[in-house]
Amino acid sequence: MSYYAGPVAGLIEELSKLPGVGPKTAQRLAFYILKTSPADAKKLARAIDEVKDKIRFCEECFNVTDQVKCEFCRDANREQAAICVVEEPKDIVALEKTGEFKGLYHVLQGAISPIEGIGPDDIRVRELLKRLGEKEVREIVIATNPNIEGEATAMYLAKLIKPLGIQVTRIASGLPVGGDLEYADEVTLGRALEGRREM
Ligand SMILES: [Zn+2]
Repeated sequence: MSYYAGPVAGLIEELSKLPGVGPKTAQRLAFYILKTSPADAKKLARAIDEVKDKIRFCEECFNVTDQVKCEFCRDANREQAAICVVEEPKDIVALEKTGEFKGLYHVLQGAISPIEGIGPDDIRVRELLKRLGEKEVREIVIATNPNIEGEATAMYLAKLIKPLGIQVTRIASGLPVGGDLEYADEVTLGRALEGRREM
């Protein structure tokens, strides 16, 4: 990579740190940015700057927001007694597209993965329990991904939450196993929500 002038090499190096971007893709993106107009390049740089400046995590559910609380937690019309637990903010987007769920969310910001050394304390489990202690919650819908980590997380949460007298449901199978919630189409995901079963 050192054949390139300093700033180009630097850009390639930074881009290659992005998930799913190997050295070749980083190089292609860097040259795309080089060719793009100064205005467009500035827009990209500004978008990155802004996201780091203005976006933070909702203090209630850990979704991304530009305010103290996210749009769902601020919306009094949402069903307050149902919380859908997801791994990442992008999963909320996928679930909202189905229009099936009208409650609140909780973003774990990950999943339990013994192989990667990620335990319950490394994701937002404690914060979820705190919410359950403070508010009247009737149902927890677990919508973690249909893979090993997502299932392990669902089992762990069910064991923890059921003794509190709260109904715990898991979105139905029919989702591609091993997949990611965000790649499921709206119809499949909507059906999975509708067909959720008690754990
Ligand atoms: Zn929120």
